[in-house]
Amino acid sequence: MIFNRVPFFTSLHKVLLVIVCLMLALAAIAPSDPTAITLTPGLSVSTDKAVNEPLSPPENKPALQDETKAQWLVKPGDNLSYIFQQNGIPASVLHNVMQADTQYLDLETLQPGVRLGLDLTDDGTLAQLTLYRDPARKITYTRQIDGTYQHQEQQAKTYWVSEVYRGDIKGSFYLSARGVGLEQSQIALISQLLSYQLNFRRDLRAGDHFTAVIGREMTGQVETGQTRIESVSLQRRQRTHYVFQFKGHYYDEKGESITPAFLRWPTSKRYRISSAFNKNRLHPITKRRAPHHGVDLATPTGTPILSTGDGVVARIGNHPFAGKYIDIDHGGSYKTRYLHLSRIQVKRGSQVKRGQRIALSGNTGRSTGPHLHFELHIDGRPVNPVTAKIPTAAAIKPQDMAEFSALREQKMAVMEQAASMSELQTAENSRDF
Ligand SMILES: [Zn+2]
Repeated sequence: MIFNRVPFFTSLHKVLLVIVCLMLALAAIAPSDPTAITLTPGLSVSTDKAVNEPLSPPENKPALQDETKAQWLVKPGDNLSYIFQQNGIPASVLHNVMQADTQYLDLETLQPGVRLGLDLTDDGTLAQLTLYRDPARKITYTRQIDGTYQHQEQQAKTYWVSEVYRGDIKGSFYLSARGVGLEQSQIALISQLLSYQLNFRRDLRAGDHFTAVIGREMTGQVETGQTRIESVSLQRRQRTHYVFQFKGHYYDEKGESITPAFLRWPTSKRYRISSAFNKNRLHPITKRRAPHHGVDLATPTGTPILSTGDGVVARIGNHPFAGKYIDIDHGGSYKTRYLHLSRIQVKRGSQVKRGQRIALSGNTGRSTGPHLHFELHIDGRPVNPVTAKIPTAAAIKPQDMAEFSALREQKMAVMEQAASMSELQTAENSRDF
């Protein structure tokens, strides 16, 4: 999946700045009553949608239009087994589809509201299952001559737009950030990024300000639901802390990395690699060629498994073939995945530190023996964890410094201007009450 990222200095951003400046100029000449801000409780924290629409959206439609298949809208409590039963699809087919999904785990996130396409032939055979994962992405499982299914992902073109969220600290950072509409997972990542620079409990006070620029992924005119944290500022009495995302890493305003380096291995001791990363592996059990998206480490059952970086537990589950598993989102471009575990020791949504024990290895799911299957994903793609470039706690490289500085100035301007704008909007809103 290639994220079609909007370059940092687009006309979009320039337009945003112009809009913000215009609003400031207008507000400066319009009569306003600044005392209204403080007299209206609850309004001093506000959310701004600084940009919703790109100036000239790319000429692409969501991938998922002209569908002729039977559709199934996933309702709360639905699972694939139930959906197949309702459509007269035998359990053996479910087994084959799940097998095709083992290296991807895409069917593990059947959230209510997601659509499935069921392409059945006249005799009731499932020719193709389609998962419409989000408006830009669909995944198909296509029946092969031997009755197995092949997984394929299609993605429409996407681009990013930015939104500015701003608020004051009232009580905890978590509650203050929830109050302006930031999502739980975004708050967890922001907290983690800022916690490298200050002690939240000791240093935060009521009245400190925060601003976050959140990127929203779009396809055509539709949001895909994917978001990213582009920049954050936290203004305390004496000083302001900054976080900027640049090329998948997070930096402070001087260009020093604020994400600690990753561990190469998810175990404290080194274990033999029993099966390497391979895009086209002959599977030891099925005897078919399929990608092997991770490395297998010959860990005896009960070996402590460590998170290779700071992050948030994005998903835990139990898959018939992958066994008990954990996905960790490390922010920026990085995710890791751990399969065939015997015991999971973290909860979904919790923050983990680099080197923190998250599970005990095992032999769950379909496995030839006790081992850990470990994956590293960069920008949504599995890469070889043995050879991949992993984050190092390095500063911006000299040759990238000009580009970083330009991004920093632009994001700082957006955060500052939007901050002023939100106060003006608050004043404006307060007249309606
Ligand atoms: Zn494996």
